[in-house]
Amino acid sequence: MIIFKTVRSLRQYLENNQGFQKNAGFVPTMGALHSGHMALIEASKKEQGFTIASIFVNPTQFNDPADFAKYPVTLENDIQQLEAAGCEVLFLPSVKEIYPDGVRSNFHYDLGDLENVLEGFYRPGHFQGVCQVVHRLLEIVSPAHLYLGSKDYQQCKVIGKMIALTGLKVQLHMVPTVREESGLALSSRNMRLSKEEREQATSIFRQLRIIGENIGKSPIADLREQATRNLLADGFRKVDYVAIADRQTLQPVLQYTPGIQLVALIAAFMNEVRLIDNMELA
Ligand code: AMP
Repeated sequence: MIIFKTVRSLRQYLENNQGFQKNAGFVPTMGALHSGHMALIEASKKEQGFTIASIFVNPTQFNDPADFAKYPVTLENDIQQLEAAGCEVLFLPSVKEIYPDGVRSNFHYDLGDLENVLEGFYRPGHFQGVCQVVHRLLEIVSPAHLYLGSKDYQQCKVIGKMIALTGLKVQLHMVPTVREESGLALSSRNMRLSKEEREQATSIFRQLRIIGENIGKSPIADLREQATRNLLADGFRKVDYVAIADRQTLQPVLQYTPGIQLVALIAAFMNEVRLIDNMELA
Protein backbone atom coordinates (compact mmCIF):
# COMPACT_ATOMS: atom_id res chain seq x y z
CA MET A 1 0.00 0.00 0.00
CA ILE A 2 1.29 3.45 -0.88
CA ILE A 3 0.60 6.24 1.61
CA PHE A 4 0.19 9.83 0.41
CA LYS A 5 0.03 12.81 2.73
CA THR A 6 -0.30 15.61 0.20
CA VAL A 7 -2.89 16.31 -2.46
CA ARG A 8 -0.12 16.99 -4.96
CA SER A 9 1.64 13.65 -4.54
CA LEU A 10 -1.61 11.69 -4.60
CA ARG A 11 -2.86 13.51 -7.72
CA GLN A 12 0.45 12.92 -9.46
CA TYR A 13 0.33 9.21 -8.69
CA LEU A 14 -3.30 8.88 -9.82
CA GLU A 15 -2.65 10.76 -13.06
CA ASN A 16 0.35 8.55 -13.86
CA ASN A 17 -1.67 5.38 -13.22
CA GLN A 18 -4.97 6.29 -14.81
CA GLY A 19 -5.52 3.01 -16.68
CA PHE A 20 -4.76 1.02 -13.58
CA GLN A 21 -7.21 2.83 -11.32
CA LYS A 22 -9.93 3.81 -13.81
CA ASN A 23 -12.74 2.18 -11.84
CA ALA A 24 -11.29 2.73 -8.40
CA GLY A 25 -13.39 2.36 -5.27
CA PHE A 26 -12.94 4.95 -2.55
CA VAL A 27 -13.54 4.45 1.19
CA PRO A 28 -13.35 7.66 3.24
CA THR A 29 -12.90 7.15 7.00
CA MET A 30 -11.89 8.94 10.16
CA GLY A 31 -9.60 6.10 11.23
CA ALA A 32 -9.75 3.95 14.38
CA LEU A 33 -10.59 1.22 11.88
CA HIS A 34 -12.62 -1.85 12.81
CA SER A 35 -14.33 -4.68 10.92
CA GLY A 36 -17.14 -2.31 9.89
CA HIS A 37 -14.69 -0.14 7.95
CA MET A 38 -12.96 -3.23 6.63
CA ALA A 39 -16.28 -4.50 5.18
CA LEU A 40 -16.29 -1.37 3.00
CA ILE A 41 -12.71 -2.02 1.88
CA GLU A 42 -13.57 -5.68 1.16
CA ALA A 43 -16.66 -4.71 -0.86
CA SER A 44 -14.63 -2.23 -2.91
CA LYS A 45 -11.79 -4.74 -3.43
CA LYS A 46 -14.24 -7.40 -4.56
CA GLU A 47 -16.36 -5.20 -6.82
CA GLN A 48 -13.78 -2.73 -8.22
CA GLY A 49 -10.35 -4.11 -7.45
CA PHE A 50 -8.26 -0.96 -7.05
CA THR A 51 -9.16 0.61 -3.71
CA ILE A 52 -8.23 3.94 -2.16
CA ALA A 53 -8.93 4.65 1.52
CA SER A 54 -8.56 7.93 3.37
CA ILE A 55 -8.14 8.66 7.05
CA PHE A 56 -8.99 12.20 8.01
CA VAL A 57 -10.68 13.32 11.23
CA ASN A 58 -12.66 16.18 9.76
CA PRO A 59 -12.98 19.07 12.23
CA THR A 60 -15.86 20.70 10.34
CA GLN A 61 -18.32 17.87 11.00
CA PHE A 62 -17.95 17.88 14.79
CA ASN A 63 -20.47 20.18 16.43
CA ASP A 64 -19.12 19.12 19.87
CA PRO A 65 -15.44 20.11 20.35
CA ALA A 66 -15.05 17.52 23.17
CA ASP A 67 -16.15 14.76 20.79
CA PHE A 68 -13.53 15.90 18.25
CA ALA A 69 -10.80 16.10 20.93
CA LYS A 70 -11.59 12.59 22.17
CA TYR A 71 -11.86 10.97 18.75
CA PRO A 72 -9.65 7.84 18.92
CA VAL A 73 -6.47 7.66 16.82
CA THR A 74 -4.94 4.20 16.13
CA LEU A 75 -2.93 4.90 13.00
CA GLU A 76 -0.41 2.05 13.13
CA ASN A 77 -3.14 -0.50 13.61
CA ASP A 78 -5.22 1.12 10.84
CA ILE A 79 -2.35 0.87 8.37
CA GLN A 80 -1.79 -2.80 9.23
CA GLN A 81 -5.45 -3.64 8.64
CA LEU A 82 -5.56 -1.79 5.33
CA GLU A 83 -2.36 -3.51 4.17
CA ALA A 84 -3.75 -6.92 5.12
CA ALA A 85 -6.97 -6.23 3.19
CA GLY A 86 -5.01 -5.38 0.05
CA CYS A 87 -5.94 -1.70 -0.08
CA GLU A 88 -3.70 -0.10 -2.73
CA VAL A 89 -3.61 3.53 -1.62
CA LEU A 90 -4.08 5.37 1.67
CA PHE A 91 -4.57 9.12 1.66
CA LEU A 92 -3.60 10.61 5.01
CA PRO A 93 -3.88 14.38 4.68
CA SER A 94 -3.45 17.13 7.27
CA VAL A 95 -6.18 19.69 7.91
CA LYS A 96 -4.14 22.22 5.91
CA GLU A 97 -4.08 19.90 2.87
CA ILE A 98 -7.84 19.51 2.88
CA TYR A 99 -8.65 23.12 3.77
CA PRO A 100 -5.77 25.24 2.43
CA ASP A 101 -7.93 28.37 2.77
CA GLY A 102 -9.07 27.55 6.32
CA VAL A 103 -11.86 25.37 7.63
CA ARG A 104 -14.60 27.98 7.36
CA SER A 105 -16.66 27.82 4.22
CA ASN A 106 -19.39 30.11 2.99
CA PHE A 107 -20.60 27.43 0.62
CA HIS A 108 -23.97 25.96 1.57
CA TYR A 109 -25.27 22.64 0.22
CA ASP A 110 -29.00 22.82 -0.31
CA LEU A 111 -29.90 19.56 1.42
CA GLY A 112 -33.50 20.58 2.08
CA ASP A 113 -35.38 18.78 4.83
CA LEU A 114 -32.87 15.92 4.90
CA GLU A 115 -30.69 18.26 6.93
CA ASN A 116 -33.35 19.30 9.42
CA VAL A 117 -34.32 15.92 10.82
CA LEU A 118 -32.67 13.32 13.10
CA GLU A 119 -28.86 13.78 13.10
CA GLY A 120 -29.25 17.11 11.31
CA PHE A 121 -31.55 18.39 14.04
CA TYR A 122 -29.39 17.20 16.96
CA ARG A 123 -26.04 18.07 15.36
CA PRO A 124 -26.49 21.45 13.67
CA GLY A 125 -24.00 22.01 10.85
CA HIS A 126 -22.86 18.36 10.91
CA PHE A 127 -24.03 17.46 7.43
CA GLN A 128 -22.69 20.65 5.85
CA GLY A 129 -19.29 19.60 7.28
CA VAL A 130 -19.72 16.04 6.00
CA CYS A 131 -20.61 17.30 2.50
CA GLN A 132 -17.73 19.78 2.55
CA VAL A 133 -15.14 17.08 3.30
CA VAL A 134 -16.58 14.32 1.08
CA HIS A 135 -16.97 16.76 -1.82
CA ARG A 136 -13.34 17.86 -1.40
CA LEU A 137 -12.10 14.25 -1.09
CA LEU A 138 -14.06 13.17 -4.17
CA GLU A 139 -12.57 16.03 -6.17
CA ILE A 140 -9.05 15.03 -5.08
CA VAL A 141 -9.42 11.26 -5.51
CA SER A 142 -11.97 11.33 -8.40
CA PRO A 143 -13.04 7.70 -7.91
CA ALA A 144 -15.68 5.95 -10.01
CA HIS A 145 -17.19 4.33 -6.90
CA LEU A 146 -17.77 5.51 -3.35
CA TYR A 147 -18.35 3.05 -0.48
CA LEU A 148 -20.27 4.14 2.61
CA GLY A 149 -21.72 2.23 5.56
CA SER A 150 -25.47 1.92 6.16
CA LYS A 151 -24.58 2.36 9.83
CA ASP A 152 -24.67 6.10 9.04
CA TYR A 153 -27.93 5.86 7.14
CA GLN A 154 -28.76 9.55 6.96
CA GLN A 155 -25.18 10.32 5.94
CA CYS A 156 -25.58 8.01 2.93
CA LYS A 157 -28.74 9.86 1.88
CA VAL A 158 -27.11 13.26 2.41
CA ILE A 159 -24.03 12.34 0.39
CA GLY A 160 -26.27 10.92 -2.35
CA LYS A 161 -27.99 14.30 -2.48
CA MET A 162 -24.66 16.19 -2.49
CA ILE A 163 -23.47 14.04 -5.43
CA ALA A 164 -26.67 14.84 -7.33
CA LEU A 165 -26.37 18.57 -6.51
CA THR A 166 -22.73 18.83 -7.57
CA GLY A 167 -23.01 16.56 -10.62
CA LEU A 168 -19.97 14.52 -9.54
CA LYS A 169 -19.61 11.33 -11.58
CA VAL A 170 -19.38 8.73 -8.86
CA GLN A 171 -21.54 5.75 -7.98
CA LEU A 172 -22.55 5.37 -4.35
CA HIS A 173 -22.60 1.91 -2.72
CA MET A 174 -24.15 1.32 0.71
CA VAL A 175 -22.60 -1.55 2.69
CA PRO A 176 -24.66 -3.32 5.41
CA THR A 177 -23.80 -2.60 9.05
CA VAL A 178 -21.30 -4.93 10.69
CA ARG A 179 -22.27 -5.89 14.25
CA GLU A 180 -20.78 -7.68 17.22
CA GLU A 181 -22.39 -11.02 18.00
CA SER A 182 -24.37 -9.17 20.69
CA GLY A 183 -25.95 -7.00 17.96
CA LEU A 184 -24.02 -3.85 18.91
CA ALA A 185 -23.05 -2.01 15.72
CA LEU A 186 -19.29 -1.63 15.45
CA SER A 187 -18.24 1.97 15.94
CA SER A 188 -14.98 3.76 16.70
CA ARG A 189 -16.83 5.36 19.62
CA ASN A 190 -17.38 1.92 21.24
CA MET A 191 -13.73 2.14 22.38
CA ARG A 192 -14.87 4.73 24.88
CA LEU A 193 -17.37 2.35 26.54
CA SER A 194 -16.59 0.21 29.59
CA LYS A 195 -17.33 -3.51 29.43
CA GLU A 196 -20.59 -3.01 31.29
CA GLU A 197 -21.64 -0.05 29.12
CA ARG A 198 -20.91 -2.11 26.02
CA GLU A 199 -23.34 -4.75 27.24
CA GLN A 200 -25.98 -2.18 28.10
CA ALA A 201 -25.52 -0.58 24.68
CA THR A 202 -26.81 -3.73 22.98
CA SER A 203 -30.27 -2.46 23.93
CA ILE A 204 -30.29 -0.27 20.82
CA PHE A 205 -30.22 -3.32 18.54
CA ARG A 206 -32.87 -5.07 20.66
CA GLN A 207 -35.19 -2.08 20.37
CA LEU A 208 -34.68 -1.93 16.60
CA ARG A 209 -35.60 -5.62 16.38
CA ILE A 210 -38.68 -5.17 18.54
CA ILE A 211 -39.80 -2.31 16.27
CA GLY A 212 -39.12 -4.52 13.23
CA GLU A 213 -41.22 -7.34 14.67
CA ASN A 214 -44.14 -5.10 15.61
CA ILE A 215 -44.36 -2.61 12.78
CA GLY A 216 -47.83 -2.73 11.29
CA LYS A 217 -49.16 -4.46 14.42
CA SER A 218 -48.85 -1.67 17.01
CA PRO A 219 -49.25 2.09 16.46
CA ILE A 220 -45.96 3.80 15.55
CA ALA A 221 -46.20 6.22 18.48
CA ASP A 222 -46.47 3.28 20.92
CA LEU A 223 -43.45 1.53 19.36
CA ARG A 224 -41.33 4.67 19.70
CA GLU A 225 -42.41 5.31 23.28
CA GLN A 226 -41.80 1.72 24.33
CA ALA A 227 -38.33 1.70 22.76
CA THR A 228 -37.41 4.97 24.49
CA ARG A 229 -38.59 3.62 27.85
CA ASN A 230 -36.61 0.39 27.34
CA LEU A 231 -33.41 2.25 26.38
CA LEU A 232 -33.59 4.37 29.52
CA ALA A 233 -34.36 1.32 31.68
CA ASP A 234 -31.39 -0.52 30.13
CA GLY A 235 -28.89 2.18 31.14
CA PHE A 236 -28.95 4.86 28.46
CA ARG A 237 -28.69 8.32 30.03
CA LYS A 238 -30.56 10.20 27.31
CA VAL A 239 -32.38 9.31 24.11
CA ASP A 240 -32.11 11.88 21.32
CA TYR A 241 -34.59 10.07 19.10
CA VAL A 242 -36.31 6.83 18.25
CA ALA A 243 -37.67 7.50 14.77
CA ILE A 244 -39.54 5.57 12.14
CA ALA A 245 -39.02 7.30 8.83
CA ASP A 246 -39.40 7.10 5.10
CA ARG A 247 -36.24 5.44 3.70
CA GLN A 248 -35.68 8.03 1.00
CA THR A 249 -36.60 11.34 2.64
CA LEU A 250 -36.05 10.32 6.28
CA GLN A 251 -39.14 12.30 7.20
CA PRO A 252 -40.93 10.77 10.20
CA VAL A 253 -43.86 8.51 9.40
CA LEU A 254 -46.66 8.68 11.93
CA GLN A 255 -48.94 6.02 10.55
CA TYR A 256 -48.13 2.69 8.96
CA THR A 257 -49.47 1.90 5.50
CA PRO A 258 -48.70 -1.48 3.90
CA GLY A 259 -45.96 -1.38 1.27
CA ILE A 260 -44.32 1.76 2.66
CA GLN A 261 -40.49 1.59 2.76
CA LEU A 262 -39.45 2.40 6.31
CA VAL A 263 -36.32 2.57 8.41
CA ALA A 264 -36.10 2.78 12.20
CA LEU A 265 -33.32 4.96 13.59
CA ILE A 266 -32.05 5.50 17.12
CA ALA A 267 -29.58 7.94 18.71
CA ALA A 268 -28.89 7.73 22.44
CA PHE A 269 -26.22 8.54 24.99
CA MET A 270 -24.45 5.84 26.99
CA ASN A 271 -22.98 8.22 29.56
CA GLU A 272 -21.04 10.72 27.42
CA VAL A 273 -20.83 8.53 24.32
CA ARG A 274 -23.47 9.15 21.69
CA LEU A 275 -24.37 6.03 19.70
CA ILE A 276 -26.48 5.71 16.57
CA ASP A 277 -27.91 2.73 14.76
CA ASN A 278 -30.72 1.89 12.36
CA MET A 279 -32.59 -0.96 10.71
CA GLU A 280 -34.60 -1.09 7.51
CA LEU A 281 -38.07 -2.46 8.30
CA ALA A 282 -39.45 -5.24 6.16
P1 AMP B 1 -16.17 6.84 10.14
O1 AMP B 1 -14.71 6.49 10.25
O2 AMP B 1 -16.94 6.67 11.39
O3 AMP B 1 -16.38 8.17 9.46
O4 AMP B 1 -16.77 5.76 9.15
C1 AMP B 1 -16.25 5.58 7.85
C2 AMP B 1 -17.20 4.72 7.06
O5 AMP B 1 -17.34 3.45 7.70
C3 AMP B 1 -18.60 5.33 6.98
O6 AMP B 1 -19.10 5.16 5.66
C4 AMP B 1 -19.37 4.52 7.99
O7 AMP B 1 -20.75 4.44 7.71
C5 AMP B 1 -18.71 3.16 7.84
N1 AMP B 1 -18.95 2.34 9.05
C6 AMP B 1 -18.74 2.70 10.34
N2 AMP B 1 -19.14 1.71 11.17
C7 AMP B 1 -19.63 0.72 10.39
C8 AMP B 1 -20.19 -0.57 10.66
N3 AMP B 1 -20.36 -1.03 11.89
N4 AMP B 1 -20.60 -1.31 9.60
C9 AMP B 1 -20.44 -0.85 8.32
N5 AMP B 1 -19.91 0.34 8.01
C10 AMP B 1 -19.50 1.12 9.03
